Amino acid sequence: MAIFPQPIISPSPDAVEFWESAREQRLILPFCNACQAHFFYPRSGCPSCGSRDIAWVQASGRGEIYSYCIHYSTSIPELRNAVPFVTALVTLEEGPRMMTCLVDVEPEPMAVHCGMAVEVTFVKSTNGFMVPMFRPT
Ligand SMILES: [Zn+2]
Repeated sequence: MAIFPQPIISPSPDAVEFWESAREQRLILPFCNACQAHFFYPRSGCPSCGSRDIAWVQASGRGEIYSYCIHYSTSIPELRNAVPFVTALVTLEEGPRMMTCLVDVEPEPMAVHCGMAVEVTFVKSTNGFMVPMFRPT
């Protein structure tokens, strides 16, 4: 089974609540109360309408692969022991896309495809954060 990268997380001020929820293995998304849209990544203003009336809402944790890349090498020293690994752009059920890693999947082209259904799981980072990653459903 694939070994996954364990990134070092340093949250921006806008993402502190996201990472605190992730620590409890809950995936939350910013939601704009003005235009009623989810968005990602976390930031203080809505990327669609500019409103700062933002709430955090629970995400289903389900989505599908929009695109992916199997990494057979990396220039990042901390990830050299993790190759091969799969990064993916996942379209969440709520609409936003999230850059992530896939786990519990063989890192080979026959095992991964665009449109594949995935669900969130949480992987502990090198510095103790829980990182949302995705696995096939
Ligand atoms: Zn908005």
